[in-house]
Amino acid sequence: MRTAISKQFRWEMGHRLPFHDGLCKNIHGHSYEAHVILIGEPDAHGMVMDYFDVKTMMQPIIDELDHCFLLDDGDDVLAQFFHDHPMKVVRVSFPTTAENIARYLVDRAVAALPANHRIDIVRIRVYETEKTYAEVERTP
Ligand SMILES: [Zn+2]
Repeated sequence: MRTAISKQFRWEMGHRLPFHDGLCKNIHGHSYEAHVILIGEPDAHGMVMDYFDVKTMMQPIIDELDHCFLLDDGDDVLAQFFHDHPMKVVRVSFPTTAENIARYLVDRAVAALPANHRIDIVRIRVYETEKTYAEVERTP
């Protein structure tokens, strides 16, 4: 029977949305949380994937983002700032909305799946606040 498992990850990250008319255009950060949901047929032992392997797969991706500023390459003002003042920055080619961060993480997660996985769907839910999330899913 098709079964879903989920593991939560947390990290701190700065960002801004230069196009935004409201507060989000300002430099700010969130305590992000991602729920990594993996859906597939359990194996003979009743496991979709060992939670340890989920951590092995995801933690390096989360560590890369932790305490970074997620910089949209189109943000010329901050690109210049971080050029002049090097800090932990991860450059991406998209506006850093929760929706796009979820898409980025689902692509990274699919690429990091172990070779012998049994996963039909990878779904990532990114919480920017306790009450708001964006969710994206992909087939590997
Ligand atoms: Zn924000």
